This record gives sequence, C-alpha cells and structure tokens, in this order.
Amino acid sequence: MKSHLQAAVIGGGVVGASVLYHLTKAGWKDVALFERSELTSGSTWHAAGGMHTLNGDPDVSALQRYTIELYREIEEISGQSCGVHLTGGVILADTPDRMDWLKTAHAIGRYLDLDTELVTPQEAYELFPLLDPACFVGGMYDPVEGHVDPSGVTQAYAKSARIGGAEIYLHTKVEDLQPRPDGSWDVVTDNGTVHAEHVVNAGGLWAREVGRMVGVELPVLAMEHMYLLTDEIPEVTEFNASTGRQMMHALDFGGEIYTRQEGKGMLIGTYERAGKPWSPKTTPWDFGHELLPPDLERITPSLEIGFQHFPPYGRAGIRQIVNGPFTFAPDGNPLVGPVRGLKNYWCACAVMAGFSQGGGVGVTLANWMTEGDPGFDVFGMDVARYGDWATLAYTNAKVRENYSRRFNVPFPNEELPAGRPLRTTPLYDRFKARGAVFGEAYGLEYPLWFADEGEVAEDIVSFRRSNDFSNVGREAAAVRNGVGLYETSGFAKYSVTGPGAEIWLSRILTNRTPREGRLILSPMLNPKGKLIGDFTLAKTGNENFYMVGSGPAEKYHMRWFEAHLPEDGSVEVRALGLDRVGLMIAGPASRDLLQAVTDADVSAESFRFLDFRAMEIGPAPALVGRISYTGDLGYEIWMAPEYQIAVYDLLMEAGAPLGLKPFGLRALDSLRLEKSFGAWAFEFRPIYGPYEAGLGRFVDLAKNDFIGRDAALREKEEGGERRLVALSVDVSDADSFRDEPIWHDDAVVGRVTSGGYAHVAQQSVALGYLPRDVAEAPGTLDVEVLGDRCPARILREPLFDPAGARMRS
Ligand SMILES: Cc1cc2nc3c(=O)[nH]c(=O)nc-3n(C[C@H](O)[C@H](O)[C@H](O)COP(=O)(O)OP(=O)(O)OC[C@H]3O[C@@H](n4cnc5c(N)ncnc54)[C@H](O)[C@@H]3O)c2cc1C
Repeated sequence: MKSHLQAAVIGGGVVGASVLYHLTKAGWKDVALFERSELTSGSTWHAAGGMHTLNGDPDVSALQRYTIELYREIEEISGQSCGVHLTGGVILADTPDRMDWLKTAHAIGRYLDLDTELVTPQEAYELFPLLDPACFVGGMYDPVEGHVDPSGVTQAYAKSARIGGAEIYLHTKVEDLQPRPDGSWDVVTDNGTVHAEHVVNAGGLWAREVGRMVGVELPVLAMEHMYLLTDEIPEVTEFNASTGRQMMHALDFGGEIYTRQEGKGMLIGTYERAGKPWSPKTTPWDFGHELLPPDLERITPSLEIGFQHFPPYGRAGIRQIVNGPFTFAPDGNPLVGPVRGLKNYWCACAVMAGFSQGGGVGVTLANWMTEGDPGFDVFGMDVARYGDWATLAYTNAKVRENYSRRFNVPFPNEELPAGRPLRTTPLYDRFKARGAVFGEAYGLEYPLWFADEGEVAEDIVSFRRSNDFSNVGREAAAVRNGVGLYETSGFAKYSVTGPGAEIWLSRILTNRTPREGRLILSPMLNPKGKLIGDFTLAKTGNENFYMVGSGPAEKYHMRWFEAHLPEDGSVEVRALGLDRVGLMIAGPASRDLLQAVTDADVSAESFRFLDFRAMEIGPAPALVGRISYTGDLGYEIWMAPEYQIAVYDLLMEAGAPLGLKPFGLRALDSLRLEKSFGAWAFEFRPIYGPYEAGLGRFVDLAKNDFIGRDAALREKEEGGERRLVALSVDVSDADSFRDEPIWHDDAVVGRVTSGGYAHVAQQSVALGYLPRDVAEAPGTLDVEVLGDRCPARILREPLFDPAGARMRS
C-alpha cells in the first residue's frame, strides 16, 4: 500500500468505483479505493441493474442521463462490457391523476431534451404486449431506459480508474479515521495505516458506520427490496422471435411494480407499501455476498395488481426470488458533498439507484473535491440539506414512507406526514387551534394556510387549484387591505460578531455592509460568480451583525461560512436556530399595529424602510426590522422563544380592530409573485448569476474585493446568458408550479422556477429564466401546464405597486 494519498475512497460498490474513476478523470492520480472484501460486496452485486432518466428533481434527472451516457466511455477505456441493454421503457398510468403526473414529467423532459412521448393504452400495449390496455388510461414512452450488468459496470469504473492511475486495495477494511491538525486523515485499515488528504465515504450499506468513525450520524437507512425472476413466458419468447427485440422496461404506478426481460422470462420488482427496514441501527460487518430470506406475503398486494395488469405474469412460474438491502436518505435522494465541521471528509452515500445515479454522483463529488465546486446545482442531493434533527428514528420513519411511495404520484400541494411534527415553535398549538394546515421544511412545522372554522384543515391533493384556494386568497387580501401576520421562525438567523466581522462580511457578501441600525440585502457568490445565498444583514452594534437567510440552507451556509472564516479567530458566526424566533406583520395597517404594541416611535420619519433596531414589544425585548417580502409596508420582529406567545397574543389583540389575519406560506408566495420577487432555491440558485437574477443592484463592484467579484464583473459586462422574467399566464384551473417548460414560438427555451396565482392581482403568474435575447424581444411565449400550452406575456413591471411606494411609505 502507498503511504500517502490525495484521496482515499472507502467502499468498492458502484458508487465508490465511480468516484474513484472521476477523481482520476479530473486529474488526481494519487488516489486509492479501499474495499473490505471484493468489489460489489454491498448492495451492488444483487441489484436488478435497471436505469432510467426520469426523476422528480430535474437536476437529478440530468445527472441520471449523464450516468447512462457514460457507460460507453468507461467501456471504451476499460475494454470491460457494462452489459448495457438500452431497451427503452414505458411508464404506465392507471388513473387520471397518474396520467397528469406523466404529463408534467413529459413536459419537464422537454426542457431537459429528453425524447419522451405520451402514449395511449393501445400504443402502450403495442410497445409492451404483456399488459392489459383496459387497466390503464395511458403512459409515457422513454427511449433512454434499460438495464446493465451491475458487476460489469463496477469493474468498468474500477479498471478505467486504474488505467487513470488509481490503486484499488481489496480485502482491506477501513477500521478508523483519525484527523490530523491540518485537516488530512490517517486511514487506519486492517492492513496498515495510510495518510490521505481527503477521505470519501462511499460505504453503501455501511455508510452509517463509516460516518460514526468521525462522529457523524448520517441519515441513511437500508430497506429490504425484492424482485422475482419468472420461468420462461411464451409471450416473451414469441415477441423476441417475431420482432428480434427484447421486451422493454415497464413501470406500473398502480402495482408499484417495475419489470423487464431477464432470460426468456421477466424480472418483476416491487416497492411494496409495507416495506421493511434492514439492520435499522448498525450494519453487521460480517454481512457479505448473501441474500435475505424472501417474504412473498409482503409483496402479494402488489403482485395481485400486477397479475391483473400483466395477465401472462399470473400464469408464469417463479424461478427465483431475490431479497437484498440497499440504502436511502429520508427523501430518497443521495447524500453527497463535504460534511460541515469536518475538513476533507466527503460523502457519496444513500445512492438508491446506483446504475442511474452512480455516474452523476461521481462527477459531482470529483468536481467538488478537485475544483471546490460541484459545477451544478446539487442542493437536492447535498448532505447539508439535513441537520442534526434528522435522527435515526426520523430517518426510519421517512425512509419507510418514501419507500412505500416510490411509485406514488407526488402532488405539488402534498405534504408527507411521517416523522412529524418534529420541530415546532411555541406558536404551533395556537396556529393549530386556528385551523393551520402545516408544511415542513428543515424539520420545522410552519403554516401553509388556515382553514376557516368548521372546515377540515387538510389539503385535498391535486395538480389543479384545490380547497385552499379561496382561503389563501382571503389571507393575501388581508395583507393588501389591512394587516397580516406570518411566522418567520423558519428563516435561518445568524449572529456574526468580532473585530473582523465587518471586513469578513464585506468579503463574502456582494453588497456594502450597512451602517449601525440599518439593513441591507445581499447575495453571496461562489468564485464562479454564481448565487449561493441571499441574505438580509443588519448591523446591531460595533462588531455585531444579525443576518437572516433561507431556513433549509442553514447548514449549507454554515459550511460555507466556516470554510471561509479567517484563521485568527477575529470572527465568530453562530446559527441561532430556534434560539431566535420571529413574526412578520405586513400590510398598510402594520405600522398602526406596531405602534399600538410599542412605546418606540415607529412613525414613517423615525423608523424608515430598512431601519433595524431593538425595541420592546409590550413587555418583550425584541429586534425589529422594517423590511418587506410581501411588497407592502411591513416589519420583522425577532425575539427569544420564551417571549413569542406573549408577543403573538398582544399583536392578535391589538390587531383585531385593524382586521389582522394570520397568513401562511402559500399567501406569502402569492404576494411575492405579485411583486416578481424571487426566492432562494427557486429563482436564486448556483446556476444563475446576480445580473441574470435581477439582483445586480445588490452587487457593489466598487466597494472592495469579494468572492466572485471578477466573475460578477464579467457577467455585468457581457450581460449574462439569461434573464429572470415574470410572466402572466393564461390558464384555466391549474397554475404553473415549478419546472414547467416555457415555449418561445416552437422551441422550449426555459422552465418555470416558481409559479402560482397572484390572488389580489387575479392573475396566474410564473417566474422563470429565458435566454437574454428572448427576454428582451419575445415573440410568442407559452407555459405548458398539464400538457396544455398556455399563452404567456412578460410582465415588464410587477403587478403590485411597481414603484415600490407601499413598502417605503
Ligand atoms: C434487490 C435490489 C435491486 C436493486 N435494483 C436496482 C436497479 O434496478 N437499479 C439501480 O440503479 N439500483 C438498484 N439497486 C440499488 C443499488 O444496488 C444501489 O444503488 C447501489 O448498489 C449502491 O452502491 P454503493 O456503492 O453506494 O453501495 P454498496 O454496493 O453497498 O457498496 C459499498 C461497498 O463498500 C464496502 N465497504 C463499506 N465499508 C467499508 C470499510 N469500512 N472499508 C472497506 N470497505 C467498506 C462494502 O464492502 C461494499 O462493497 C438494487 C438494490 C437491491 C438490493
């Protein structure tokens, strides 16, 4: 074994092998993979090898496509066959809702240049003549689907990596990881210790154990998974003989079944409702190339539907049942990237579809390690999307839920119940008693909308406008006409203190730091000039700042902050979490309401737009900023949690004569769309620059050097590739939501980043990016909503208060 490495990859499944290959491809030659047994000794060896591009997250979809296209490359380099069968596949809908989902998936596919096609039941039958067309309402054909040989793929990655300079140490178990003061690692194996600058946890079934070696509890759980292989099916061999082709893949939402040809019969896999976790707390190290006992009873409900939908299956004998474990994160997406607080420790774990995603995970991580940036927006699979709240028990509940819903239609207004409520603020019970319907982000409950008395406080899930529509409209109107109250505790709050705080903030943010008692808005950029955050920043004292950003990005941002802190200890950044909670009041009567609960002078002259100061709200000490995300006059009130109920009760009482109404996130979204305001993770993402996003006014190129300045300057001079625009869309009963394609004449040129109904303006609005020339001189624009092309026009100014007079009043 070598004594020193640039990177040690732990785990020789398909994911570790892909990471190793991509590291060599990126130019790191001094890298090695450690495998406790033979390659593929975790879940990889018994996988069904299926691959496809379709994914609920278009960014993950793009990486899946990359994976599939990569097989030719590694076959050429290694001379090792991956056993690729690109048969194509058909996804089958047995209900109109499921067909609606396929329509949205097909539309998203257009933007990603996928060649999918919607088909009738009869056309689906012609593609896959084992199905009964009477059981389906339609389907979607995807030419880029098929299967590979799991072992062949892993070997092809491994051989390609070796050719690129990597070493692979088989029968070498990593037993411990010891950090050195410079951030590098001693990798302790049963064959000796190696010093590595970076380590990668690609431990698959043992990812938790490799996390625990460094004190990290990763939210990963393995589930048992079964597929069966049938005996020969005459219809299959007849199809093969008459067409010269293999049967293609099919996926049946109703039966929760995927199926493809294997030999002269078929392979049938299920994601059953009653999924079973495997080794929920620790994975035994002596688990090897072995299968779990089959449990046909568990998958019988799925098979019964399958036998109706695919009649020849009911007549076929079962040749073999494979039951094996593989891992999931709570939302089913991988956990990739550097772990906050640990230098040079990287994750490539919880990859539940290694043969669709392994390549994408490998290239992402290799980019990140070698260039400091993944090169795409990978937040959907970033390990930092989970905080410490994602415990073993939470993960267990969510993974089981996710597994059981693998083939469920995800509705845009659907909130999933497992593992909730977990994190709540003091107001939870108050809001619940008022009829709040809750959503959850970063483990925290927050109101989406409020049901009226006597109404059921529950969403009816749908792709179209639903039962919340008029309530959300009334909440939005309350803000525009009087005053509304919204809980802001879900935002991330940071305190930045110390003698170096101001200089540091000026270096990581694009805007000039504010004077004491004032607020600014500021994007944060990476060195490539792409948006990695947007914040409000207030100066609260000589060396003290209070910063607010996106809640779900708290850990993601802390990881960045900590990696960029000066080493002299002159700056301290602290995420305040729920040690600081908040309320927003907004609307033309919000000043009167605030004045009614404080002795401080909050008149327009004394407390101006973007002022920020400490004041007492009733008896409670608070920090108050005059700022608006609704586009109306508004205030954010921040306090310690022990005061929140008192402040809330006081506001509700004082607000009653002013018509005060609590509102939820859906009304807030409606109000911000009316103002064409973007939001983090939707419009503001690491694939866009600040000028493209319309945030140029918050970039002060003249102040001092800041991260991303050169790239931002270039973007400003060259104009950027795209522009964020707001569109008014002519729809019927369904609004755009996210990712719908935007058509320009007869080509798809963009996708919706967020859409919905602007209740007060009474228009359906979509935000999205268009190529700059199209945004400047559009011809005919349409937004495709549920398969219909809906005419759209660019809003050159916000629908509400274009001059911004209301929030500055
Ligand atoms: C029945 C079944 C069917 C499936 N079907 C499909 C499918 O059709 N399509 C698809 O894409 N996916 C499928 N999968 C999932 C697929 O198998 C996984 O996505 C994939 O194998 C994950 O690979 P991995 O490299 O992350 O983990 P693993 O395959 O678990 O590999 C981890 C490796 O790390 C090694 N290791 C762990 N800790 C250490 C250590 N400390 N030191 C040294 N070595 C260590 C292990 O020995 C192991 O070889 C299926 C899984 C199962 C069980």
